[in-house]
Amino acid sequence: MNIIIFGPNGSGKGTQGALIKARYHLAHIESGGIFRENIGNGTALGKKAKAYMDKGDLVPDDITIPMVLDALQAHQKHGWLLDGFPRNPVQAEKLWQALQASDLGVDYVVEIQVTREEAKNRILGRRTCANDANHPNNIFIDSIKPVGDKCRVCGGKLSARSDDQNEEAVNKRHDIYYDGENGTRAAAEFFKKLAEQGKTRYIILDGAGDINTVREKLLSELK
Ligand SMILES: [Zn+2]
Repeated sequence: MNIIIFGPNGSGKGTQGALIKARYHLAHIESGGIFRENIGNGTALGKKAKAYMDKGDLVPDDITIPMVLDALQAHQKHGWLLDGFPRNPVQAEKLWQALQASDLGVDYVVEIQVTREEAKNRILGRRTCANDANHPNNIFIDSIKPVGDKCRVCGGKLSARSDDQNEEAVNKRHDIYYDGENGTRAAAEFFKKLAEQGKTRYIILDGAGDINTVREKLLSELK
């Protein structure tokens, strides 16, 4: 089973991705991890990528695509969940061509949809319980609103993750994701068109629902 997952930061993509991965025992292929592995192992592609990154430049697609393809091929036996790539329609098309040239298919493309405002609120409103990081608390989501300034589950002390609170960074990531012409939404759209031609299957999840509802919908659609 080969799956590509799309969803902005704050959509619950991590949670749903982990669920898919566990259910089908898939390798989690994530763009950041691919870079770290290639650079850490000093592969030829990793060295080229590092030279760009050291200068603060974007790594060009003709380096990134082969790296992603290598990772996918290495895990072809058990299948994979590709996460965080492609980020734009050009990469989507190049990846699709590379997959086809290697006889690799994509069984499902999963897109978790949430409005930009909702995604942002989810990130900026997230609070972490000192007693258990899995206690859900978000000051902007009514169903999991903290009690006063304490954890809604256990009354523990809450704190905001500092990297969650950088609104500028959140906006920057969402600018790329929600750009329907040159950004990640356009990459997702590329696969949606392929699905209309019968070349893959496309599952849209409404990420605004609670985690269990989204989960059930997802599991009922994956065959
Ligand atoms: Zn708690």
